[in-house]
Amino acid sequence: MTFLSNNIAKAVEFLKQEDVVAIPTETVYGLAGNIFSEKAVKKIFELKQRPFFNPLIVHLSGVDQLHKVVEYVPEEAKLLAERFWPGPLTLILKKRPEVPDLVTSGKDTVAVRVPKHPVALELLGKLDFPLAAPSANPFGSISPTESSHVANYFNGKLSMVLEGGTCKRGIESTIVGFENGKAVLYRLGSITVEEITALIGEIQVKNKKEAAPDAPGMLSRHYAPLTTTVVVDDVSKFIADLPDQRIGVLLFQNTVEAPNIKAQKILSRQGNLEEAASRLYAALHQLDKQELDIIVAERFPDVGMGKAINDRLKRATQK
Ligand code: AMP
Ligand code: MG
Repeated sequence: MTFLSNNIAKAVEFLKQEDVVAIPTETVYGLAGNIFSEKAVKKIFELKQRPFFNPLIVHLSGVDQLHKVVEYVPEEAKLLAERFWPGPLTLILKKRPEVPDLVTSGKDTVAVRVPKHPVALELLGKLDFPLAAPSANPFGSISPTESSHVANYFNGKLSMVLEGGTCKRGIESTIVGFENGKAVLYRLGSITVEEITALIGEIQVKNKKEAAPDAPGMLSRHYAPLTTTVVVDDVSKFIADLPDQRIGVLLFQNTVEAPNIKAQKILSRQGNLEEAASRLYAALHQLDKQELDIIVAERFPDVGMGKAINDRLKRATQK
């Protein structure tokens, strides 16, 4: 049995013993381990069945810990960290030699962030090492935004899931790196392109695998339900051609009526993109359990958090 608890001291104990614990963050739940423990980091990769070429994000208790893992911080990175930490922004920076190759997949850079979740921050504050913490799901599947999602994935295989409620943001962090001193966005996420642009000006977006060999984990299939999933502009029109199918629909704001719809998820009745993002993965988890022939998702407006939602939906459709 996996141990679901809100006992932070117990989690500290497991982590000090080089074990892996699932922890809540404001983005999604993570599988956390001491970055300096080969045993813990290997267990993370094994549990997730994640390929070793896919580097991990290092979670710090505060910006004051940054110098322990990175060599230097460009001016724009300082601005970004000041504005968005604690928060869902990951920075790729030149690593210090102490950071193990296993964590960075042998790269000379390391991905870092300070999470904005009271439980994660309290936990990190009680440890004298940072935590590697990729999402607590098997590689490629839907990310967990509730402790029950983690327990379903890893029941019996994980010593502890630290309870932290539903993740407020619900979509992974935005990843920003630097090429020739210029900021580049590698993964759309919970901090919007617009927010970053407002702070440091236009930023190049290299969110596709082909465009971003420097962000090796950006696989086209990711965050995917087992059920076949499609994204369309007009859900009513699309499902009219599928009369004999058991259909699940995933919609932004408005209901769609049709006899072949067996399950329906509306992500934000008020049309709020942040709310929709926070509920996206839980809706996919629920639809995926309902023995449907197909999940038909509506394309979101391509602004703000809508960009990250569309990105995740697109990756959910790849085979
Ligand atoms: P996650 O799976 O949410 O923990 O995010 C990890 C992702 O961060 C990886 O799949 C990469 O795309 C990116 N990443 C982590 N470390 C690096 C790095 N050193 N250089 C470039 N991208 C990185
Ligand atoms: Mg992940």
